[in-house]
Amino acid sequence: MSEHLLSNLKNVEARIEHACHAAGRPRESVTLLAVSKTKPASDVAMLASAGQKAFGENYLQEALQKIAELPELEWHFIGPIQSNKTRPIAENFAWVHSVDRLKIAERLSHQRPVAQGLLNILLEINVSGEESKSGFSLSEIAEIIPQVAALPNLVLRGFMAIPAASTDLEQQRIPLHRMQQLLLEMQQAFPELPLDTLSMGMSNDLEAAILEGATIVRIGTDLFGAREYKKKPE
Ligand SMILES: *Cc1c(COP(=O)(O)O)cnc(C)c1O
Repeated sequence: MSEHLLSNLKNVEARIEHACHAAGRPRESVTLLAVSKTKPASDVAMLASAGQKAFGENYLQEALQKIAELPELEWHFIGPIQSNKTRPIAENFAWVHSVDRLKIAERLSHQRPVAQGLLNILLEINVSGEESKSGFSLSEIAEIIPQVAALPNLVLRGFMAIPAASTDLEQQRIPLHRMQQLLLEMQQAFPELPLDTLSMGMSNDLEAAILEGATIVRIGTDLFGAREYKKKPE
């Protein structure tokens, strides 16, 4: 089991290196976020002992338990956010990738303890325009940015996307390229802001995401293995 995790980490690392090389980008321009949802703290500790520093979680209660065990790691919240659950997110994470409404950003800023330093946030973009997915539309983002940037305890670092799934590299690149364009346009429109982050790329589209400028790739399955969701007893 544990050897599995370490060889998975090596394989993912090799894929990132290869993709960076193919894209003509330095390896340091991409951060690996290990998505540990549903996986035990012991698996997280194993990857941490091999040098992995940043971990992503989707489910708040589960995340808080792991953070309590491993507070020295860098924790990123990447899951859907209910507005009545923002306080523990503001208090326990270094980054939030899934800010999909202005109200959520306002609450996170208000509830961020000043002693923790600024909370890094990304605005989630519904880049494929899917009804079922949350996130801002591309057309409203320029209007939202100044409102988010004005919040005192947050720092807006960029954008996150979960594009519609495809197994074809060229198809995968289309929405990811749109995200790269968005970042470039918003960097030009708001040169005073530290917009430097694109969180995109998962186990199946890591290569396409790095070709299109991802700076954080979020990898779960290919690091930890398939997720097993426990069934509730009847
Ligand atoms: C689960 C999850 C991932 C990891 O996806 P894999 O396909 O398992 O690599 C990445 N991002 C988000 C937002 C997720 O919920």
